[in-house]
Amino acid sequence: PGGLPSNPTKDYAPKKLPKGVVLGPDGKPCRSCTSFASWAAMTKKQTSNSTSTSTTSSTTQLQPPPDCPPDVEQLGRSSWTLLHSIAATYPEKPNPTQQQDARQFISSFSRLYPCHWCATDFQKWMKSAEHAPRVSSRSEFGQWLCEAHNEVNAKLGKDLFDCTRWEERWCTGWKD
Ligand code: FAD
Repeated sequence: PGGLPSNPTKDYAPKKLPKGVVLGPDGKPCRSCTSFASWAAMTKKQTSNSTSTSTTSSTTQLQPPPDCPPDVEQLGRSSWTLLHSIAATYPEKPNPTQQQDARQFISSFSRLYPCHWCATDFQKWMKSAEHAPRVSSRSEFGQWLCEAHNEVNAKLGKDLFDCTRWEERWCTGWKD
């Protein structure tokens, strides 16, 4: 999809946004917070408004092209792959420095994650003592990340992952 106009408040007033398009803290539509289908619907609408041509094909099944900025789903899949892969190679018996590195990484990640509303929810979830990152071993870290991922799965209405199989999925490969 094409670029965005320079005045988002004029051209992208929230009431005119297609369903699913999320604004960033700067008031502009946030690409990494929005599915590609919604983004494509918005940019198509923008194009059809400006050229007066009608759009015929549905955008709901669209996937982002491989060489375009990621949408919220592609960003999420890639990020979970990185996070679970870090846990898969995390030491079984991490020393205090490695545990500190893991805590700091997760803390920075939760503040820098490009989908700001995803990041805010992730930070809120981690804030409770019950959900504080557990980094005392590979298994603990992997389980904690699995629980964090399941929290998002639940929020999005997806099936929960069986965390007893976390290591098979991300470390050893499936046993069966
Ligand atoms: P993903 O959920 O990306 O999972 C990829 C693979 O991981 C799956 O195929 C499965 O094999 C495996 N897997 C699934 N669950 C688990 C688990 N619990 N433990 C281990 N492995 C598992 N999207 C939003 O729309 N709204 C949000 O608020 C939001 N918050 C996010 C917060 C974070 C920190 C991250 C990293 C992503 C977030 N996302 C959010 C993206 C969302 O979680 C998905 O990545 C995205 O919807 C694509 O989903 P998917 O079905 O392709 O599989």
